[in-house]
Amino acid sequence: MTNKKHIMIVGAHCGDGEIQAGAIAYKYAKAGHKVTFLHLTAGEKGNPPHISIEDYRKQKMAEAEKAAKILGAESITLDYNDAELTLNDEIVTRVAKLVRQLKPNLVITHWINSMHPDHALCPRIMEAVQMKAGLPGFDLDGLAPHYFGILHSENWEDMEGYVPDIFVDVSEEFDTYLEALSQYWFIMNSSSFRYFDYYKALGTVRGCVSRVKYAQTLKYPVGGNVRRGNIIPGFPLE
Ligand SMILES: [Zn+2]
Repeated sequence: MTNKKHIMIVGAHCGDGEIQAGAIAYKYAKAGHKVTFLHLTAGEKGNPPHISIEDYRKQKMAEAEKAAKILGAESITLDYNDAELTLNDEIVTRVAKLVRQLKPNLVITHWINSMHPDHALCPRIMEAVQMKAGLPGFDLDGLAPHYFGILHSENWEDMEGYVPDIFVDVSEEFDTYLEALSQYWFIMNSSSFRYFDYYKALGTVRGCVSRVKYAQTLKYPVGGNVRRGNIIPGFPLE
């Protein structure tokens, strides 16, 4: 028996998952757990003026590979088009097959409210994947059913209603996290948002309120039938 888990971090675009949970990913990878970044699109339409969308797609996939390697993780980029994600059976089935093959125990993904339609759809797609991969009634190329839990993580584009539940101490992982982020052109050079400054400051602020140097946060799903445990957390009966 092993207690090693597989954490899959699912982002709409290359860079989202690393930004949101890269330090957490590294903390778990260092401890011997498996970590996979799954990017539903490359995020290629944020291309700089001198690079074509097709070339920028390749560049972002290469940046994702480098970032994942630094964080001790795998990187998978699907070929959906940036800013054109839809919640439909084709993507749900495709990702459900991937989940049945890779067997993640936990999926960390975007929060449900976002200014970016791809971001807002990503957790909805993963909820549908959770059901399709988990239910034995779906025959997906004969692959065994597999169920995973979902947590949300923090992204500046997804802040409406995001109130963190879990603060993960990433003080020892934060420098490596910043090194991974620096592999991305947009994080270091975007003229529309100061990504690097923001996420360095966010890790600092989240660390302050949890009395550590740096922290990264997670949020439980919300909804009428969400179960977070069967006793009061932190109060074992014996
Ligand atoms: Zn994004």
